[in-house]
Amino acid sequence: MTQLVDTISEMRRWSQGARQRGDVVALVPTMGALHRGHLALVKRARQEAQRVVVSIFVNPLQFAPHEDWDRYPRQLANDMAALADEQVDVVFAPSVEEMYPQGDSLTRVSVASMAGALCGRTRPTHFDGVTTVVAKLFHIVQPDVAVFGEKDWQQLTIIRRMVSDLNFPVTVLGVPTVREPSGLALSSRNQYLSPEEHQRAGAIYQSLVRAKERYQQGERHRDRLIDLVRATLHEAGLTPEYVEIVDPGTLEACPASLPSSALLAVAVPVGRARLIDNMLLGQ
Ligand code: AMP
Repeated sequence: MTQLVDTISEMRRWSQGARQRGDVVALVPTMGALHRGHLALVKRARQEAQRVVVSIFVNPLQFAPHEDWDRYPRQLANDMAALADEQVDVVFAPSVEEMYPQGDSLTRVSVASMAGALCGRTRPTHFDGVTTVVAKLFHIVQPDVAVFGEKDWQQLTIIRRMVSDLNFPVTVLGVPTVREPSGLALSSRNQYLSPEEHQRAGAIYQSLVRAKERYQQGERHRDRLIDLVRATLHEAGLTPEYVEIVDPGTLEACPASLPSSALLAVAVPVGRARLIDNMLLGQ
């Protein structure tokens, strides 16, 4: 039986009980509207822990006022059914008032320079909102393990750094991106796409694959690979917000002549959606 918990006090009581029994607890933080990508995280959590908690919370702190917080898809009943099939123990779905009883959190957790890279350029407050809510969730759920998707590579890297800098007793695991047959990364925001936009969005993955193939053939010129990605997107009528090649561990821009390990990352507006994806080049 999957238990629905919506208060912090009940969540804490459950976690304390699990820990007293000696159970390893894994947490999968989400914003709901679950798809197979989220479920891959849950399956990984299941492998690592006796008890699995999935949080569902559309965190206002990580949305700017003009972004899609109010229209973000919310489908708790469907999500509960999918998570019951995965034998999740607890779904923690607090209200905004429960998480932010004073209306806001004056305290922010900020992984400074990393939060300003890549998506942080156009979403300057986003990652502080993410790290603040994830820190709160870690304090509330007290997991031994937390599982995140590599689709949001920047988020995963920032959370790893937060956990290291602030000594959270949590092991952070990353799970490879789950994709549609076209290669399009599964995302709750794909629901915003019309059928035609959905089809065009397949070019995002194709652009990454083309660049990776060129890299594997020996191309090490950063800007030529970036141009190739831009050209592939352009053919599909897409204009990226950014195409960047960065160090996968620090998110700092790679030099013009690429090293043996690099991360190619893109953000692409498609219709009403802003989609992100990434691919490791080299090791
Ligand atoms: P979200 O609900 O979008 O905040 O995502 C919750 C978690 O699921 C994050 O750790 C995401 O990186 C992860 N996730 C989202 N989409 C995918 C996907 N297609 N493959 C793997 N993980 C994903």
